[in-house]
Amino acid sequence: MGAGGHVIKGKRKVAVVAGGAGFLGSHLCDVLLGDSWEVVCIDSFLTGRRQNLRHLERDPRFDLIEADVIDLRPGQVMRGGGRIDAVFNLACAASPPHYQADPEHTLLTCVLGTRNLLQLAERTGAGFLLASTSEVYGDPEVHPQAESYWGHVNPTGPRACYDEGKRAGETLAFDYARAGRVRLRVARIFNTYGPRMRPDDGRIVSNAVTQALAGDPITIYGDGSQTRSFCYVDDLVDGLVRLQAVEATPRGPVNLGNPEELTVAELAERVLALTGSASALLRRPLPVDDPRRRRPDVGYARQLLGWSPRVGLETGLRNTIAWFRQERHWALSVRPP
Ligand code: NAD
Repeated sequence: MGAGGHVIKGKRKVAVVAGGAGFLGSHLCDVLLGDSWEVVCIDSFLTGRRQNLRHLERDPRFDLIEADVIDLRPGQVMRGGGRIDAVFNLACAASPPHYQADPEHTLLTCVLGTRNLLQLAERTGAGFLLASTSEVYGDPEVHPQAESYWGHVNPTGPRACYDEGKRAGETLAFDYARAGRVRLRVARIFNTYGPRMRPDDGRIVSNAVTQALAGDPITIYGDGSQTRSFCYVDDLVDGLVRLQAVEATPRGPVNLGNPEELTVAELAERVLALTGSASALLRRPLPVDDPRRRRPDVGYARQLLGWSPRVGLETGLRNTIAWFRQERHWALSVRPP
């Protein structure tokens, strides 16, 4: 790891990955390093995990700046005048129990954090990729959700700090792009799962896998008939890398996710079958503003990036279950909420 948290100067392209200690961000760091980039990770470790970066500690092409993006100044990252080619903004708690724990911080992360990173990209001429979310569609009235749908979001509910934060982050980013201040790419990410997701994430995949492996009842919110579409992490990160690299300027945000839709009860049954667990299903009330249906229309990503998900649910779940088995001590100490 480079000393002092400054950009490493070299011939390779340099990426800043904000939120790089998290689930998606740490996989993105791995892929970029594998593609011969140098990587500067910025993370406050709010929900990220040092273990996700442990294998990179001795890599001279990797650098870590421990900072909150809300307070980030471009100078902190630009020290030494090093080049930056791409800024990926993934910094934000992504699961409801985490982003609702401090809603003000979540909203400010999405808005002020995004502004600080946009300024960094503007000052360095780097491309800017914003990790937005399918939550900008809220509880959708249109199915599946295409990028042209403006969404159905409750602006004052408990999820709004995240949903509206991400919407405002997109607004700000597109204002920078319209004014010619940054080269912008926005990914609207749908539910993604895989190794390194947190056991206390609170969403169905991590709940079901950790609870099945522990022999605990699997929490199902509502009657389990609500649908989700689950994308494996490798596919998602491949989409982010392609989106960053694409020459053509996208006409707007780009959905990334897996269109294979199933109910959360079906997902729980698949996890039970693959783990061989005898856990029962425990029904709990549906959270406020929980979306009933969620499936991406990925036609635009397919056309623009030549991208579509390749990893099927069974393979993805097997990999995820194997990883949670390996991390069972941590998983047991950080139980689902
Ligand atoms: P995660 O919680 O594992 O990662 C987020 C990372 O950002 C963590 O390392 C956390 O410590 C860091 N972070 C949070 N607030 C910060 C702040 N103010 N300053 C600095 N670092 C901060 O979540 P993830 O699943 O990897 O999600 C990454 C991004 O992708 C998020 O922006 C999220 O909104 C988006 N996304 C994820 C999913 C998904 O299914 N995982 C779906 C849609 C969108």
